[in-house]
Amino acid sequence: MAVTGKKTATQNHSVEIPPQLSVRELSELMEVTSVSLIKQLMRGGIMANINQVLDFQLAGRLASSFGYEVRRKAVTKRAGSRRPDFDELSAGSLKPRPPVVTIMGHVDHGKTRILDVIRQTKVMESEAGGITQHIGAYQVEVNDHRITFLDTPGHEAFTTMRARGAQLTDIAVLVVAADDGVMPQTLEAIDHAKAAGVPIVVAMNKMDKDNANPDRVKQQLAEANLLIEEWGGEVVLVPTSAKNGDGIDTLLETLLLVAEIEDLKTDPRLPAGGVVIESRMDKQRGPMATVLVQTGILRVGDIAVIGGTWGKIKAMYNYAGKQIKKSGPSTPVQLLGLASIAQVGDILKTFPSEQQARNTVQKRIDAAREQSQGSRLQTVLDQINKGKVKDFNVVLKADVQGSLEPIRTSLEQLSNEEVKVRVIHSGTGNITGSDVMLGATSSGLVVGFNVSAETGARRVADVEGVDIRSYAVIYDVIDDVSKILRGMVEPTYVDVIDGHAEVRNIFSTTKKGRVAGVYVTEGKIARSHKVRVLRGKEIVCETTVASLKRFKDDASEVAAGYECGVGLNDFTDYAEGDILEFYHREAKFAA
Ligand code: GDP
Repeated sequence: MAVTGKKTATQNHSVEIPPQLSVRELSELMEVTSVSLIKQLMRGGIMANINQVLDFQLAGRLASSFGYEVRRKAVTKRAGSRRPDFDELSAGSLKPRPPVVTIMGHVDHGKTRILDVIRQTKVMESEAGGITQHIGAYQVEVNDHRITFLDTPGHEAFTTMRARGAQLTDIAVLVVAADDGVMPQTLEAIDHAKAAGVPIVVAMNKMDKDNANPDRVKQQLAEANLLIEEWGGEVVLVPTSAKNGDGIDTLLETLLLVAEIEDLKTDPRLPAGGVVIESRMDKQRGPMATVLVQTGILRVGDIAVIGGTWGKIKAMYNYAGKQIKKSGPSTPVQLLGLASIAQVGDILKTFPSEQQARNTVQKRIDAAREQSQGSRLQTVLDQINKGKVKDFNVVLKADVQGSLEPIRTSLEQLSNEEVKVRVIHSGTGNITGSDVMLGATSSGLVVGFNVSAETGARRVADVEGVDIRSYAVIYDVIDDVSKILRGMVEPTYVDVIDGHAEVRNIFSTTKKGRVAGVYVTEGKIARSHKVRVLRGKEIVCETTVASLKRFKDDASEVAAGYECGVGLNDFTDYAEGDILEFYHREAKFAA
């Protein structure tokens, strides 16, 4: 095996290896990343994931290929057999599923061409002839493993899905043209993938071009906080040329590697579910939807609810147009039989009966009608108040680069102990639909500084209930966001004392029991105040005012130097000399 990874052969480390251990455990013992270990295993023809158990021999060879001196760890045998734990028991029903990959990156960097090359060269031969139209996704087979590609490139589609609550993508391929370098949409794609928590593989494309400048691309990626392996990070960068096919095999193998690390599994016995990735009305066949099956096995004859529509599946076709009877996880399938057209991003669920499906659709339609009023921001504020959300996400757009950094820094400084302000994406130019989508998926606020929102963006904002706020003065941005945050933060309450009164007489009234005749010694007292009854140093009671009278008349306030009658709620046990302390409670927000 060749030597790669963090450590090199010249470093003389030793490692004690037990008879059996997982890749993860070995990685921890060796201080070599699991990625490097899995890669090394792959080079030796072994497809392993992070939980794969290695025997001493294999682990030893692996460790020595990283320059480690290997020793066998002595183990003492435990009496009795170990009971398998929960993970081991359930692991039996979990089956690996293909990764679902989205291609993202700046316009013209080669996303479409990469998808085309992969489709043309890697689609299983038996299927290749059949592909007459794109259905939104296709599958390829590499080293006996499948990979599913969503074939609408770009992060707009990716984010639209997420806004609907569907996370389709397991891995994002970030295409960066080696001649053009990191561009605004590259940065946007990085932010979108990061916001979704999806691992990134970089395809540094157009390597065939004379003016390709790989070093500059790597430098720019580092500046964008995307650390590739060569720079000490975990992100794999694969040089490619979609024009002559170079690097495409390596890209595919890397995707399998990342999929192994992600350990993508699902239980095929789960009820069938999925997400709509494409939808259209076919003149002859009626509504057609491409669904990416995510869980379970979807079968012809299943009763499915998709968003606001439903149907009994009449027929299914795979990505090559071939009619099929069933379809498993991570597989795109086009289906017929829906009552009406489904929306991209809608979730498919299967139901045992038509009646249940119909009822569910009706409930959803009613709920959607009700929900269309509320804004996402309000929902987030509510959640933060309940302590459920800790991040306040902001998408920031400004007219010039120079404004972004100061605004970002000032906004992030508004973070407090309860809420962290995160600028999850910033860029120059008008607010686009994609910005709003990112705002929607992260339940955040879209802030524009000296820029306006494109018409499309406003429409998306209306549909998705996203707040867009535009400003022309930096102070106003900060002031407004800090106000929003204050609304979100649970305030601390302080008691502000308004006045004191001394009990001088006690009267029994027939209706209200006893009231106190008091003299207001300082401040003022009001009907709306709360009251503490103090006897010496002791607080006898804390309550509210039931009545406040000057002579026979009700009063709302009485100032120092005046006498009045006070009745308290749930308290009549006055003694002469008691001090009534009147106060109100004020909400105080962190500065
Ligand atoms: P997209 O906008 O990212 O989908 O980019 P396309 O795939 O449409 O590619 C934009 C242009 O770059 C097209 O003219 C492609 O033929 C060309 N292109 C894509 N990949 C490569 C490559 O690896 N090398 C060269 N020389 N040209 C490429």
